[in-house]
Amino acid sequence: MKDYFVRATAAGAQIRAFACTTRETVEKARQAHNTSPVITAALGRLLSAGVMMGCDLKGEDDLLTLQIKGEGPVKGITVTADSKGHVKGYPIVPDVILPANAIGKLDVSGAIGPGTLTVIKDMGLKEPYSGQVELQTGEIAEDVTYYFAASEQVPSCVGLGVLMEKNNTVKQAGGFIIQLMPFAGEEVIERLEQNLKGLASVTTMLEEGKTPEDILETVLEGLDVVVTSKGDAAFQCDCSKARVERALISIGRGELRDMISEGKEIEVNCQFCGKQYHFPVEELKGLYDRATRE
Ligand code: ZN
Repeated sequence: MKDYFVRATAAGAQIRAFACTTRETVEKARQAHNTSPVITAALGRLLSAGVMMGCDLKGEDDLLTLQIKGEGPVKGITVTADSKGHVKGYPIVPDVILPANAIGKLDVSGAIGPGTLTVIKDMGLKEPYSGQVELQTGEIAEDVTYYFAASEQVPSCVGLGVLMEKNNTVKQAGGFIIQLMPFAGEEVIERLEQNLKGLASVTTMLEEGKTPEDILETVLEGLDVVVTSKGDAAFQCDCSKARVERALISIGRGELRDMISEGKEIEVNCQFCGKQYHFPVEELKGLYDRATRE
């Protein structure tokens, strides 16, 4: 199944809903950062949340950043998403190895530890919108749920999942977000709660061959789901040599002069996708000249 997201409404617009399947996206992130299984799961859950929250941005050029900072061994994870299903992200420590948790699953909570989740929405205004909450479990879905309730006052239900193959590549990944509008009636809320009671995990549903549409039909059974839009999802980084050059120029002439005097080519890795950019001394000299002019 190709990676994509859907947006939907249900119960005559008393519910807004999102779902996505993101196996290729998460596998690409795993390859870019050579993540261990528990970090693939953590990054993959946050990337899936990014796809769904990104597609809810109002403006075409708006950007969403989800940033987790924790006391656990991964230290932090950052994900950035646009409104068109493109996400990128990285963990600070990619190779954390932990024993399975009490229920035999990858210990995402243990890798993250206590900390914070910050959501930044850059909508082209001077000050981006930003909300921060304490992590509730470090399992990510519960933390995003809590963020919606505490920061945006939207009662939500979030499911996120990543399932690994035996060889530690990504077998399944995806998620859903269900949000109740302020005017949602008691009957609708009760029905939703009932549906959620016996609900299988996201990865179980994906393993059963369910599409994002099917997942919403399951979570919102009996609530008349109407899919309103659909789009491709992908791990995509917008880095370029020109961008890295601008970053090098911005560090200043002093630093550039030091690099040049070392007399060696330097290598800069993009934090988000791991791509390597090489700058021979000659090019550094050119950047030094540009830094002098600017
Ligand atoms: Zn990049």
